[in-house]
Amino acid sequence: MRIVLMSTPIGFLGSGKGGGVELTLNSLVTGLLSLGHSVDVVAPKNSKLYYCNEKANLHFVDGEDQISWQHQNYNSPVSIPDDSLLVGMLEKGLDLAKKADVLLNMSYDWLPIWMTLNVKIPIAHIISMGSESSVISNLIAKVYDEHPYNFAFHSKIQANDYPFIKKPVIIGNGFKLDNYTFRDSVKGPLAWVGRVAPEKGLEDAVYVANKLGEKLKVWGVKEDEAYASKIEQSFPQDTIDWMGFLSTNELQKELGKCRVLLNTPKWNEAYGNVVVEALACGVPVIAYKRGGPSEIIKHGQTGYLADPDDKKNMLSYVEIIEKIKRKKCREWVEKNASTDIFANKVVNWLNRLMKEYK
Ligand code: UDP
Repeated sequence: MRIVLMSTPIGFLGSGKGGGVELTLNSLVTGLLSLGHSVDVVAPKNSKLYYCNEKANLHFVDGEDQISWQHQNYNSPVSIPDDSLLVGMLEKGLDLAKKADVLLNMSYDWLPIWMTLNVKIPIAHIISMGSESSVISNLIAKVYDEHPYNFAFHSKIQANDYPFIKKPVIIGNGFKLDNYTFRDSVKGPLAWVGRVAPEKGLEDAVYVANKLGEKLKVWGVKEDEAYASKIEQSFPQDTIDWMGFLSTNELQKELGKCRVLLNTPKWNEAYGNVVVEALACGVPVIAYKRGGPSEIIKHGQTGYLADPDDKKNMLSYVEIIEKIKRKKCREWVEKNASTDIFANKVVNWLNRLMKEYK
């Protein structure tokens, strides 16, 4: 197959601004190349693919970022800036896709989904978030009526946010296992990884660390500086150890030294890449029973699922975290979330979709 992938119109690949989509795109490229497919990637200027993805053709587009939907009101209208990156990437993607089998869109935005109704080229959409916008959800419902095979989701619980999708295609996600080293650090510090933004609930993890009289190591882009400093000021000085945003390789080296990852989403997390990255290093995860992490973590085997927003419940699980066998965490990733497993699911889905266009 010849596949054209369109990246997120928020931040270049490697900036961290695009969140989990950056890693998901890279994993997918790795998996598709290893299965022998040809891949073109349309991405913002300055984007970098993983070294192992050098066989993919990378096409740069310059322009203004979109505003992230999770930081707007649910009923906000669609806005497109002058010199729009999204428009530029879509134009480039459609042009390349004339000679390809499919355009695979990884941006969560209105325009590429609407375009599905208006061109003959198959446009497939990996929906990367729960329902964050009424105008997008309504459009997905409309396009789904005509093109029921054009959408895929990362988890069942994410797809539940779109109740009109009768039989959602669930593709999970993939991780290049060689990029993560197993470490048996049962006595390490507490970890938290993610974009520092309200939907990620960092304050609850800081609460747990503070109760234990420990520091919390935090990795990720400070997307919302005001939110970050508000949390910092609500707890004793130095409870948070800000570690910054690291490349996957640097991150996994540090993360593997931790005894547990705390994952505290306040929204319907579509998947939760950081959960699986921790597991791949052998780090068990305690997450709220909400969104993708609740489908990934096997309670009592690879971590624990705490009652949503119940910080005390989360704390009680940290106290028994040594019961989790770290090898089991790594094994789960090997069996369920490698790049090959992921790419195979995507290819099966795309083959089904393409039949509709013949
Ligand atoms: N991440 C990273 N370096 C860091 C912290 C985070 O590369 O120092 C990446 C991480 O690998 C993951 C992404 O940021 O792929 C966060 O994705 P997730 O699915 O957890 O949440 P999202 O940001 O998409 O809501």
